[in-house]
Amino acid sequence: MRRERSAEWFRRAVRVIPGGVNSPVRAFRAVGGEPIFICSARGAYLEDADGNRFIDYVGSWGPMILGHAHPEVVRALEEAVRRGTSYGAPTSWEVEMAEEIRQALPSIEKVRMTNSGTEATMSAIRLARAVTGRRKIVKFEGCYHGHADALLVRAGSGVATLGLPDSPGVLPELAAQTLVIPFNDEGALEQTFEVHGRDIAGVIIEPVVGNMGCVLPKPGFLSKARELTERHGALLIFDEVITGFRVGYHGAQGLYGIRPDLTCLGKIIGGGLPVGAFGGREEVMRELAPEGPVYQAGTLSGNPLAMVAGLTTLRILRRDRETLYPRLEHLTTRLAEGIAIEAERCGVPVRVNHLASMLTVFFTDREVTDWTSAASTDRARFRRFFHALLERGIYWPPSPFETAFVSAAHGEAEIEMTLDAVRNALREVA
Ligand SMILES: *Cc1c(COP(=O)(O)O)cnc(C)c1O
Repeated sequence: MRRERSAEWFRRAVRVIPGGVNSPVRAFRAVGGEPIFICSARGAYLEDADGNRFIDYVGSWGPMILGHAHPEVVRALEEAVRRGTSYGAPTSWEVEMAEEIRQALPSIEKVRMTNSGTEATMSAIRLARAVTGRRKIVKFEGCYHGHADALLVRAGSGVATLGLPDSPGVLPELAAQTLVIPFNDEGALEQTFEVHGRDIAGVIIEPVVGNMGCVLPKPGFLSKARELTERHGALLIFDEVITGFRVGYHGAQGLYGIRPDLTCLGKIIGGGLPVGAFGGREEVMRELAPEGPVYQAGTLSGNPLAMVAGLTTLRILRRDRETLYPRLEHLTTRLAEGIAIEAERCGVPVRVNHLASMLTVFFTDREVTDWTSAASTDRARFRRFFHALLERGIYWPPSPFETAFVSAAHGEAEIEMTLDAVRNALREVA
């Protein structure tokens, strides 16, 4: 496979951009080698600077549930861009977006748009602290909630694969207000509330984790979090930046029947443009400026192009939800089970965690339910597996702690081709 043009771009990139990338996990540090530069994408496929084509399982790290350059999204954007790209004044699209989100996620009575998931979680934490008058936040080991200071503590994939336990520049005083406990550990959560209950403003959680690889909540774990937060007067914050509109049209909260106080969204709701949002109960959200005293703002928040791309995506998901989500799940299950069968044939121990259109291949014989078990994956084997797939035209997430995403543009043919590549890749790494 030719890589000259990507290599040349990367040489130029590292001179002018830290590590050559604008977000660390793109840099292939966890898998070795150099990133490939993409110049276009359509449906389930990416094309790189050297003209190579790949079946894409990164999906821009989650947003591209409809596949790339969906014709309806492209058409809507083309129309929108002619009307100007940003006004800094209210638009009808923001109202329609808020209504669209609200009718899919009934725990959200009011919603505020942001430009990224990071801004959404950061603002949700500020709001939780403001309305409770408390300091401490509980998060779970291996969950990632963006890179705001308070949340950059044992934060999963990007940080874990770079081997940074924490980040320099995050004040220890601030990090100390974040209590970190293992995912799926009800006992630790109970204990934490026993000791710190009066100080806890909120519990933030990825209800289905995407950022230590795909890890599912054990039965009862999320309802325990709901029960404890309610009993102790803390807010339950669902970080559905990945899972919102991904694990189902009603998100993880719909799937598990839990009503969080606040929900953070991002990724899919921007249809591939920069976006985030947080919303929840009316009496919490009305504390935000200008209705209330809690300051939160954004020059480009609710940007018309992001709203149009996101709205078009959400409307397609609503229209097609009864066929689209089952089909995604069917394809993903086929892929996950196919990988497990091939691995068994090759004598390679794997755990393939999957839910809806999310999946992760862990090279371990342990059940993966939290960060400790996720970290038992054989990273060297993953590296070889990743490159063996890339050579065969499969663009898998370049980290053992990421989730692969299947899109609505993937079909049986792509899954078949992927399984062929997986078969050969697994033989290579056996
Ligand atoms: C991606 C992600 C974020 C951060 O969103 P950005 O738009 O990258 O800032 C927050 N939480 C979760 C669960 C995410 O996957």
